[in-house]
Amino acid sequence: MESYNKWKCEYCGKAFLAEPFIDRHFDRRHPDSIQQSPSSVCLSDYCDVYRCDVLSGHRTADFWDVKLCIEDDIVEMKDKCKAYMAQCIPKNLSQNATRKLSADLDEAVCSYLTCSKYWDVPVPGSDAATAMYIIMSILISFSVLVYYCIFYQYFYTDAFSDNISYDPIIKNHPSYRIHSPKGEIRQRSQRGFP
Ligand SMILES: [Zn+2]
Repeated sequence: MESYNKWKCEYCGKAFLAEPFIDRHFDRRHPDSIQQSPSSVCLSDYCDVYRCDVLSGHRTADFWDVKLCIEDDIVEMKDKCKAYMAQCIPKNLSQNATRKLSADLDEAVCSYLTCSKYWDVPVPGSDAATAMYIIMSILISFSVLVYYCIFYQYFYTDAFSDNISYDPIIKNHPSYRIHSPKGEIRQRSQRGFP
């Protein structure tokens, strides 16, 4: 499902407007791909524990969803989730492997079944992205601070005006002469009335 009205067959790339059409397409064109043994399952039957609506972006939490969350109900769903995950773990694994896989499945699926985490959407690499944003923000803030320090130093302190007298271009500029000591003005007058 790419959107509510676009369902795409991953086997041949054909797109359909609604779910019943793609179901029919599978029956006709790809019957071999349909698991029909008694033990086969459809993952969408477990959407309550997989939070399909949240992860697909079709539902986002509003104020009342968060406020009216009942922890007991969600704990019940979490227990159900753990029971489902236990059924998914192959029986022939070692004890350590079973424990590791169980912990991974719990972390990836069941741990989100609490009122505080139910609406969270895990994004791969989000931790690295967040760290990058924080570092960039600090660097930009520091650069701006340094810029304004230099700006202030040059235009609002004596350091800059002390230096300009050594610059022949600025020294010869008319606006400089007006504010110069008397000797400089006299020099201009002498030039005007030789
Ligand atoms: Zn197809």
